[in-house]
Amino acid sequence: MFTILITGANRGLGVEFVRQHAADGWEVLATSRQPEKSDALKQLASQHPKVVLHRLDVTDAESVKGLADKLKGKPIDVLLHSAGIYPREGQHIGEIDYDGWHKAMETNLFGVLRVTEALLENVAASPRKQIAAISTSLSSLRGVQGGSVAQAGTSYQYRSSKTALNMALSILAKGLEPRGIRVGLLDPGWVKTDMGGAHAPLSPRESIAGMRRVLAGNPMEISGKFLGHDGMPRPW
Ligand code: NDP
Repeated sequence: MFTILITGANRGLGVEFVRQHAADGWEVLATSRQPEKSDALKQLASQHPKVVLHRLDVTDAESVKGLADKLKGKPIDVLLHSAGIYPREGQHIGEIDYDGWHKAMETNLFGVLRVTEALLENVAASPRKQIAAISTSLSSLRGVQGGSVAQAGTSYQYRSSKTALNMALSILAKGLEPRGIRVGLLDPGWVKTDMGGAHAPLSPRESIAGMRRVLAGNPMEISGKFLGHDGMPRPW
């Protein structure tokens, strides 16, 4: 059976990734800034002995190094980056919140790369050798060009952090090809979580089930691609 490490595993999409992989018997390294504060995660760990909780703040280099030291030599088949933030303040031109923008880049872009660098040898040592990050259709340059002003003219921080993530992971996918490590980007759709809000059409269960079907495909075929939870390519 495979091992998956999930960031941001305490709520939202992350905890549903934990739930579904645990139900299928995977070993799950469920990471979170404060795992002890998530009842959902603690319950999953008590029900499934192969769910192990670890502390990880993806923006904190010491925290990332601490986890990498703890996991040294442990193969990780799938490294799944779910942690992310969506700054809500100062999203319009004339009132941009640059602190929020820095935080978005730290979490959504640098966090993914920092954790990937730290755990790369764990992934390389596994049979499956797969890395995936949750991006968003809002990252699409084509989408912003084709969208209405109301849709397109906002959310500088979040959207640009995810567009940069798409580029960084595309570079990574190419760079890691010779080592047989496969890197993909996923769009979960608009999902009911704290981030997605109550009006989102998709449940975490549906979105994660879809993304898991995509991840279960041939890693060579999905590497370097940006795919939706429905398996369809998303525009860059
Ligand atoms: P939530 O806001 O519900 O959860 C975000 C998760 O990220 C939490 O577990 C949070 O932990 C964690 N997190 C934030 N900052 C850090 C950090 N520095 N270190 C570790 N963990 C951190 O969001 P979703 O579950 O909805 O989103 C998951 C991913 O999916 C994100 O990358 C998001 O951008 C993406 N996405 C979501 C969509 C949706 O509709 N929901 C649509 C498109 C993309 P904590 O509790 O400690 O804050």
